Amino acid sequence: MTAAPQHTTKRKGWCPGALRPMQTGDGLLVRVKFSASRVACATARELATLSTRYGNGILDLSQRANLQFRGVTDETLPDLIDALRDLNLLDDDVGSESVRNILVSPLAGIDPQAANVENIVVALERVLKTETRLHGLPGKFCFAIDAGGNQPLGATSSDITITMLGDSNKCRITLCGAGDVALDVDTASATAAVVLIADVFLAHRSTAPDLRRMRDLVARDGADVVFVQSGFASIRRNIETTPTLSPDRIGRLQPSNTKHIAAIGLPFGRITSEQLAKLAVAAEHAECAELRLTPWRSMFVPCRTSGDVDTVLAAATTSGLVTDASDPRLAIDACPGRPACSSGEAHTLVDAATLAEHLDFSRVQLEPGLIHVSGCTKGCARRQATQITLVGNDGLYDLIIDGTTETPPCRSGISTFDLVSTVQDALRTTARKTIQGAANSG
Ligand code: SF4
Repeated sequence: MTAAPQHTTKRKGWCPGALRPMQTGDGLLVRVKFSASRVACATARELATLSTRYGNGILDLSQRANLQFRGVTDETLPDLIDALRDLNLLDDDVGSESVRNILVSPLAGIDPQAANVENIVVALERVLKTETRLHGLPGKFCFAIDAGGNQPLGATSSDITITMLGDSNKCRITLCGAGDVALDVDTASATAAVVLIADVFLAHRSTAPDLRRMRDLVARDGADVVFVQSGFASIRRNIETTPTLSPDRIGRLQPSNTKHIAAIGLPFGRITSEQLAKLAVAAEHAECAELRLTPWRSMFVPCRTSGDVDTVLAAATTSGLVTDASDPRLAIDACPGRPACSSGEAHTLVDAATLAEHLDFSRVQLEPGLIHVSGCTKGCARRQATQITLVGNDGLYDLIIDGTTETPPCRSGISTFDLVSTVQDALRTTARKTIQGAANSG
């Protein structure tokens, strides 16, 4: 057993990794980042074992498609780190780990309509590791590589996004908050362009530490200025809007006649070690190579045949994972809350499960962004507005309609006893407004 000195630098509030875990309400949170968000089935099975052995048997899938061990202790951490190193899942140092935040379209390389982004992923990972000045980027700073196709990343949040433009050998670079301003470059130059832009961000941040994300710099100076300072003059304006996310993201996906995907949702972004082991074993039996983690609280399992998809989906269904696109749990975002998070002021996961089980959703459209159950105003599970938001407040809930966790509530002091009836009333109002809006526009 070895213990690296970085392991002692854990602290509440940091953007955690594996080399720098974070203290939470249920122990240390150890976040593992995968190259291109892909995990070999055998590795996933091993991770399930490690979660039981060194954590509390619960893993969270983050919005950056990372897996987070929960319930790790000071005593079990060194052995977990050794095991992760043996699986080749650790970066060389905290700086490299912290900056390696790259989202990749989950069907890149499989979907015939998606571009091949392998070279860009490899190149970006390499520069983030070797160009150590980039380790000064904030821990939440994120890059996205959108291959397009059937499952584009769309508006999934990132600081700098590279979007492939069909087969043209061109790609588009966009900045968070930049609206319809963009830069088109050859794909061979994409990584170098992104590094130049990141350098400009770092230069500004060195004199203005309050610039925490790219959107802050864009809001202050404008995207045009950032591109020009990065050395680019041919800026595109009035670009077409970002492709929306595919509505078909759970169950059976078939991006082409010969490509078969089992798409499995994790209830509220969480999977137990037992569920992960069952899923990995079923996928291995079906001779699937890997699990692809998505930023949408789901895992895609590329299968050889339609029958293999059935096998994998059946295993996921029986272990309680989400395989039906009409499952109400998909319409509810919830953070870990109490007791897993020390900032939690409500038992969010229990209450979210109760809502999913007891609410009547028959008159509303079941879609992500309907309900958000948050343990506090930080809103970790979802930054965007939802139709109905519940925020924990000293064991009770505040209710917010059409807002985020930071929107002033329209009602406070809701007990768990009244939660279902209160949210049901809010759903009825939402349904009425939708019908009224449709009638007015018709
Ligand atoms: S929203 Fe609050 S309670 Fe929920 S995980 Fe984040 S900090 Fe914890």
